[in-house]
Amino acid sequence: MSLVLAVDGGGTKCLAVLVDAERGVVGSGRAGGCNPQSVGREQAEQALADAIAAACQGIPPGTAVRTAAFGLAGVDTPRGEEEGRRLALRALQAAQVTAAQVVVENDGLMALRGAAAGGRGLLVVAGTGSVVYAGDGERFVRAGGWGHRITDAGSAQHIAGLALAAAYRALDAGDPDTPLARALCACAGVDDLYALHDWLYHPETGLDAVAALARAVGAAAEGGDPVAAAVLEQAGRQLADQALLAAKRVGLLDGGPFPVFLLGGVLQSSRRVRTALLERLRQRAPGALAEVPRFAPVYGAVIRALGGPAALDEGLRER
Ligand code: BGC
Repeated sequence: MSLVLAVDGGGTKCLAVLVDAERGVVGSGRAGGCNPQSVGREQAEQALADAIAAACQGIPPGTAVRTAAFGLAGVDTPRGEEEGRRLALRALQAAQVTAAQVVVENDGLMALRGAAAGGRGLLVVAGTGSVVYAGDGERFVRAGGWGHRITDAGSAQHIAGLALAAAYRALDAGDPDTPLARALCACAGVDDLYALHDWLYHPETGLDAVAALARAVGAAAEGGDPVAAAVLEQAGRQLADQALLAAKRVGLLDGGPFPVFLLGGVLQSSRRVRTALLERLRQRAPGALAEVPRFAPVYGAVIRALGGPAALDEGLRER
């Protein structure tokens, strides 16, 4: 049995699949977010170990997989990559799985490998965090994804931050009770912007909880609030500008159509962010065509582990 393990580890959830080169997917597992920058190292390791253990429950403990490929949020620098590797090794050990080879890359890069099946394209991910990767089939270029302290353009964290800034700007201007302020307060379960401030800086309020305020912004925009709608459109345009930087550097703007893949909770759920992003992209890059990803992100890690999309086609697609 030649087994590979693939992991897609994002800010909100992580997925693992165990693939037998002959039989296709033989196990899968899912757990919570595993970006150590937002959930901390311990929780990230636990989530990864849980997803891996669930994916590998059908094989005897200690069985070696040929390659374990991890696409991990938080792998943003050479040092972050080393830490991601240590995290992956500890999670494998905790799940009692051994791997002859361990590959660790950023989650967006793995996702582009899957979406474009190793080929050309522009991948824009916006969920809890965000990142952009552009590839010409040989070379990959990244833009953004530098985490919540810098601005993950278009992400739930960014949208929540823009909306909070707008709500407190209105308070400063003498209007504490805007539709946006009401939506944000209701989402946090508090009565007014002062209580919301207390909630935001409470030690137990995690980044995830703050990012979840983005849902309230979406709901307020759907309810007709122009300030909330403007926040979502601004987030979409900023993300497009970032995507254009990566697309340009890899030569996708030099002519001809190229596929654009949109992934992540924000881009799936917010029509406004998506539309603003695509409109801006098409203005500056008329060749940009939104397409459905060929494979889901975790299969990008399978492609990496198996050594190319052809192997994936043979090993998985027929099944
Ligand atoms: C992280 C990146 C990640 C992106 C998408 C950002 O917050 O810093 O490493 O690729 O989110 O998950």
